[in-house]
Amino acid sequence: MHLEVVTPELRERIMPGKAQVPISKYTASFKAAVEVFGRGQVSTYILAGLGDTREAILDICEKLVAIGVYPFVVPFVPISGTPLESHPAPKPDFMHSILGPLSKLLVDSGLKAVDIKAGCGKCGACSALSSYERMLTK
Ligand code: SF4
Repeated sequence: MHLEVVTPELRERIMPGKAQVPISKYTASFKAAVEVFGRGQVSTYILAGLGDTREAILDICEKLVAIGVYPFVVPFVPISGTPLESHPAPKPDFMHSILGPLSKLLVDSGLKAVDIKAGCGKCGACSALSSYERMLTK
């Protein structure tokens, strides 16, 4: 259940269809999924670089971690031929400012990519997040 974007106004602009499902509905579904699959075995994909602030992303990540959901934060990558082909990818500094504190939160909370059994959090190819976690656990 991928949130993609987390700020309400931005959700409505970037993904008007998906924005019809409020974050509160996602949260309820996340809680139900964690009851079935266990803490740390439910993940969501959040795309950094589409307009959400660092603070907005980290704020929702804290809430997700608190209910046992692994927030897989990924840099947006523009793809030619799509409506957002001209939208820039986020700068490395912006990603670092999110993945640094997020990885610490994940490690401190016991939600690590290495323990995930399936899904994007396990694969990890679209984000450096698991590398940040590894640097903290060496
Ligand atoms: S490559 Fe891996 S992390 Fe990226 S979307 Fe596919 S499964 Fe998810």
